[in-house]
Amino acid sequence: MKYVVAVDVGATNLRVGTYWVDGRLIKSVSVRTPGSGGPDTIAECIYDLASRLISELGLNQHQLAGVGVGSIGPLDIRRGEVVNTPNLGIRSFRLRKPLTEFFKTEYVLVVNDCVAGVWGEKVFGYGVNIDNLVYITLSSGVGGGVVVDGDLLIGKDGNAHEVGHIVVRYDGFRCGCGGLGHWEAYASGSGIPRYVKYYVENIATSRKTKLTEFVRESLITPELFFKLVREGDEVAVEIYNELCRVNAAGFASVINVYDPELVVVGGSLALANYDLIIQPLHDLLTNYVVNRLPKILPTQFGGEAVLKGAAALVIRPPKKLLRIYGFNH
Ligand SMILES: [Zn+2]
Repeated sequence: MKYVVAVDVGATNLRVGTYWVDGRLIKSVSVRTPGSGGPDTIAECIYDLASRLISELGLNQHQLAGVGVGSIGPLDIRRGEVVNTPNLGIRSFRLRKPLTEFFKTEYVLVVNDCVAGVWGEKVFGYGVNIDNLVYITLSSGVGGGVVVDGDLLIGKDGNAHEVGHIVVRYDGFRCGCGGLGHWEAYASGSGIPRYVKYYVENIATSRKTKLTEFVRESLITPELFFKLVREGDEVAVEIYNELCRVNAAGFASVINVYDPELVVVGGSLALANYDLIIQPLHDLLTNYVVNRLPKILPTQFGGEAVLKGAAALVIRPPKKLLRIYGFNH
């Protein structure tokens, strides 16, 4: 049977896996994403990890069906490059061209990580018989991938559905991208500590709880914040209630715009705190949503969601992506 090399280029971790073309994972490995180097350092690292997997597993180069990549963005999808990403030391790097040379195949498909995520759900997950679905990830950022009428949305450069920059408050807190009131500025792994600090320093100024002490010592992480929410820390719960409304506004905007039947949620932050982040949405969404409410489910693939999606790209390629790369399938 033929196999696929799948790659998940994250801001923190770089995962490489091999899959049989029926979708079964053979083996995957994960390393820290290189934070320094040249424009091909990441592609070289991918090839190095894949080569080791391939020889360790006794696979043959001729059995390789193709290479699928889900990467942090923003992307220039035609060139298969990441352009000026704010989340990694190497801000711009090439994927498609060097990988095509290293693996000696033209069949290298590169998309945004959440685009891979939604395609994985469509091909192998809860979206198998569903034509309208959205994949939303809450981790160090907030991202989304969208299938409408069975078709994968891509955009002119591969950056359609940047849902993390949906405006949830027009006069709100400033996002890492510079925009005002973006969803990601509040609800992402990088946003939560900054928002908590902002809230404590500007709104809960005269209050004193465990949380405000941690903020003064610059010790707040998303994990610590949710721990304090669970303990009932007064200021943490107050911020958490705001966060629930922010998340409801974000999810509602996605639902209003794409009219999905299903929303699949992934990302380490959401999966580790599903009860606190996602469960409350069911009651809050009705305040904001105009469309019929979709089902909301956690991805069944956990941390493997993007990797599985990258494999799905090669196994059942979206027609639009083949057109972009000039393949006639
Ligand atoms: Zn933004």
